[in-house]
Amino acid sequence: MTEAAPDTPSSVIDTTRPHPARLYDWYLGGKDNYPVDEELGRKLLAVAPGIPLAARQNRAFMHRSTRWLAERGVRQYLDIGTGIPTEPNLHRIAQESVPGARVVYCDNDPIVLAHAGALLDSTPEGSVDFVQADARDTDTIIERAAKTLDFGEPVALSLIALLHFLSDEDGAGALVDRLVSALAPGSYLTLSNLTGDFAPKDMASGVTGFYKSGAMTMELRDRARFTAFFDGLELVAPGVVVLEDWHPELGEVVPAGEGTFSAGYAAIARKP
Ligand code: SAH
Repeated sequence: MTEAAPDTPSSVIDTTRPHPARLYDWYLGGKDNYPVDEELGRKLLAVAPGIPLAARQNRAFMHRSTRWLAERGVRQYLDIGTGIPTEPNLHRIAQESVPGARVVYCDNDPIVLAHAGALLDSTPEGSVDFVQADARDTDTIIERAAKTLDFGEPVALSLIALLHFLSDEDGAGALVDRLVSALAPGSYLTLSNLTGDFAPKDMASGVTGFYKSGAMTMELRDRARFTAFFDGLELVAPGVVVLEDWHPELGEVVPAGEGTFSAGYAAIARKP
C-alpha cells in the first residue's frame, strides 16, 4: 500500500475551500461554517437529503458509545477527528461516570482548536488536552497524547465519522493499525464510517463526486471493508451494526426516517 504524506496542518482557517468539520457543523445546524461550506452542503443536500440525519446519527453514536465505555470504568480516551464541539462533548459524557477521566482530542482543522474553551473544560480531577495533527501522523499524536494519557494502561481510541475522509491509498487502514499497536491490552477501538450499502447507487456516487469537487475524499465503505478495520481485535456485542442499532438503550437514537436509509456502520472492539 502506498501512503500519501500527511498534510501539515495549518493554524490558518482557510475560508476559500470547504472543510469536513465545517460541513458537518453546517449539517448539524451550527454557526461555525463559511459560505464555501454552505454552498457545497446545499449541493450535497440536493443529491442526498439524508446527510444531516447521518451527521446527527454519528453524533448520537458518539454519545452512546462513550457512555458504554465510561460505564465500564474506562479512564482514558483518545478521540481523533473530534469535530467542532456540540454539547455534550466526549469528555463531558466520560467524566459524568468517571470524574477523573483523561481525554485527548485531535483534529487537523484549526477551527476545532478555536473552540478550545468548550473542549478543554475538564473536571478538576480529570484532564483534557487537544492535539492539532493529521490523523496519519500517528507518531506525533501518540507522543503529544502521552503527556496526558498513560499508554501502559487501557485507552479508548475513537475515530468516529473520520475514516471516510481517508481512502485506503491515503492510509486509512495503516493509521488504525499503527494507533492500535500503541495501545495496551484491554484498550478499545470505536469506529463509524458512512456506507453506500443501503443507498441508491447514483446517490452514493453523487455524494462521493461532490466531496471530490471540493477536493475532499468521501470513502463509503461496505460492511466487509468496515469490519476489516477491527482485524485482530474482539468486537463487543452487538458487533458491526448500522449506527442507529448500536446500543439504542444508552441514549438518543436518530432513526432512519421514512424515505431515508441507514447511512453508516458502527462498532467497538477490545484489544486482547
Ligand atoms: N467525531 C465527530 C466529528 C466527525 S466530522 C463526530 O462524530 O461527531 C469529521 C472530523 O474529522 C472533522 O472535524 C474533520 O476536521 C476531521 N478530519 C478529517 N480528516 C482528518 C485528518 N486527516 N486528520 C485529522 N482530522 C481529520
